[in-house]
Amino acid sequence: MATRTELLARAVADADTATVLTGAGVSTASGIPDFRSNDGIWDRYDRDQFDIGRFEDDPGGFWADWLAARGKLFPADPDPNPAHESLADLVGAGAVDTLITQNTDGLHQAAGVPGREVVELHGSGDRVVCSDTGCRYRGPADPARERAERGERPPVCPQCGDALKPSSVLFGESLPEHAHLRAHAAAERSDLFLVVGSSLTVEPAASLPETAVNRGATLAVVNLDRTALDGRASYVFNDRAEAVLPAVRDHLLGEDRARGE
Ligand SMILES: [Zn+2]
Repeated sequence: MATRTELLARAVADADTATVLTGAGVSTASGIPDFRSNDGIWDRYDRDQFDIGRFEDDPGGFWADWLAARGKLFPADPDPNPAHESLADLVGAGAVDTLITQNTDGLHQAAGVPGREVVELHGSGDRVVCSDTGCRYRGPADPARERAERGERPPVCPQCGDALKPSSVLFGESLPEHAHLRAHAAAERSDLFLVVGSSLTVEPAASLPETAVNRGATLAVVNLDRTALDGRASYVFNDRAEAVLPAVRDHLLGEDRARGE
């Protein structure tokens, strides 16, 4: 008899268009804290310190607090875990067509998914953008962070001298429109939608699987806690992402190899 991970692997293999949405749960095994869990970070930090209004009023102070919080909360150099690696293999094999993430940690790319293939709903912690929207400068975050650590707060844009801003979406800031449109289009055309490590409480992530399932897609959920859409899912694993995805990957890529013989 087929195991549950085998059945999910078959559903992914049989799908014409498979979309995956990942949230914080895919990265907790890499030491990245889940910002929305009950013992969440926002009990210890003031959200107003990190919203877009604060950045606009006081970009230097924002950068000082941002660096201090990052240093305390994040591992210096987090590595992708087996959940990221399994998803990278599935994207690489063409079994997953679109990978959407709520995370800004860059770990899907670190696991080998080409950057243009990851739809980052909340932007990226690996890049900075110029706060002058007319300038459109984008660059890597590391050099800007190093300059801020040395006292250049805020670090300024090499093109126009305006303040640089982390490209991850701040509280009160609108989502990157291009990513939002790509994610929505993927949800509409997918016939299999897999949620991994997201409790589906934050928009627009919450409405993406709903859009897919309303259009007839098969829904699968891999999340430690129950989600509001578990009742509409054909496959539910209330388990850790890194415990489920490697088995799905092994079944699916094993099947592919068998087919090629
Ligand atoms: Zn600029």
